[in-house]
Amino acid sequence: MTTWTQDDERALLDNIDRWIEREVKPIAREHDQEDKYPHALVEQMKDLGLFGATISPEYGGLGLPATTYAKIVIRVAGAWMAPVGIFNSHLIMASAIERCGTEEQKQKYLPLMATGEKRGGIALTEPNAGSDLQALRTVAKRDGDDYIINGSKTWITNSLYGHMVLLLVKTDPEAKPRHKGMSLFIAEKGEGFVVAGKLKKMGYRAIDSCELAFQDYRISAANLVGGVEGQGFYQTAGGLELGRINVAARGCGIGEGALKLALAYSQTRQAFGKPICEHQAIQLKLAEMASRVEASKLLIDSASRKYDSGERCDLEASMAKYFATETGVFCAEEAMRIFGGYSYSVEYEIERYYRDAMLMCIGEGTNEIQRIIIARQLIERQG
Ligand SMILES: Cc1cc2nc3c(=O)[nH]c(=O)nc-3n(C[C@H](O)[C@H](O)[C@H](O)COP(=O)(O)OP(=O)(O)OC[C@H]3O[C@@H](n4cnc5c(N)ncnc54)[C@H](O)[C@@H]3O)c2cc1C
Repeated sequence: MTTWTQDDERALLDNIDRWIEREVKPIAREHDQEDKYPHALVEQMKDLGLFGATISPEYGGLGLPATTYAKIVIRVAGAWMAPVGIFNSHLIMASAIERCGTEEQKQKYLPLMATGEKRGGIALTEPNAGSDLQALRTVAKRDGDDYIINGSKTWITNSLYGHMVLLLVKTDPEAKPRHKGMSLFIAEKGEGFVVAGKLKKMGYRAIDSCELAFQDYRISAANLVGGVEGQGFYQTAGGLELGRINVAARGCGIGEGALKLALAYSQTRQAFGKPICEHQAIQLKLAEMASRVEASKLLIDSASRKYDSGERCDLEASMAKYFATETGVFCAEEAMRIFGGYSYSVEYEIERYYRDAMLMCIGEGTNEIQRIIIARQLIERQG
């Protein structure tokens, strides 16, 4: 990680704010409604360095601390959450390679990932295995210097327009306990790596979430992350804290964006002879929304600071993920109520926030699972 001064951070965030106003906000509604991938934004994200945001400078990235990265995510998600997925999933893959990969893997992939020339995602979920990843059925069998992979994945973000995925498989399906038979691969597109079309979604539109089929897909053993079998579950779990801080920031951004829209609308919409923001029932909603957004930012900052200092932060990351993503849902719903009938019109953007918010409670470990982690940690730390 490089040292980022407060002035550096301010300059970077100002640049991001200008980009959001100029390029993201004007295209969000059309791309969302037409489920159209934002190719132009991808090119701009490359110029902004977003694909290398958390990759170390020695591999060509910006080396941002999690505290600064979370602020970027909150800002972009406040305007439109979906494009965050393009660099977020990519950076989770990069972080796994940087944490667990061999030096050869880091040298081969990270510089190309930092520029966005090669973009990736994470392929964990299967039709029958989401929260319970140890139940997955995709199998990699050793064949000389290669592995042959068969199986399927679903809901994989960046899999149509990206170039590769971090693929979680079983190398020993009989292993007991089950997680000891799991391994991670850096899987580039090629023969046997089949991308089915984009899944149609309620929200998080415009982004490519697809089903993948691996049909006798041959991959070099050099692409086994870290060069050892049986580490995939730990390697995946090791990236969850940063992943949860990221998703927390997306939820918080949705909450803050919905609050801003509702606040502005409540100052112009009149009912019973005055702007609706002067009715106490609306004020209670705005106050509750603003307080939860602020509390989310503090939880995210607290988890990020611990992460940056190298301390264990699974409890804090889960608290931030749970609270901030529920805040996103709460604020989007309250904003819908404040917009009244117009909330149902696609002319107003608030309905998109409402459709996008719920996903944050499901992805990167559902909020039920988060609360179980929090409680287990509380019990463990109590002794
Ligand atoms: C739009 C979208 C994009 C996605 N992108 C990706 C991606 O890029 N890569 C990827 O790998 N995956 C991705 N996912 C998948 C996502 O991570 C999973 O949907 C999520 O982990 C939940 O798994 P599941 O859907 O199988 O639900 P399940 O695991 O079947 O859970 C169903 C319900 O049971 C509850 N539950 C399960 N186990 C327990 C338990 N032990 N205790 C209490 N409650 C429990 C859950 O909380 C939930 O309420 C994406 C999903 C969506 C919708």
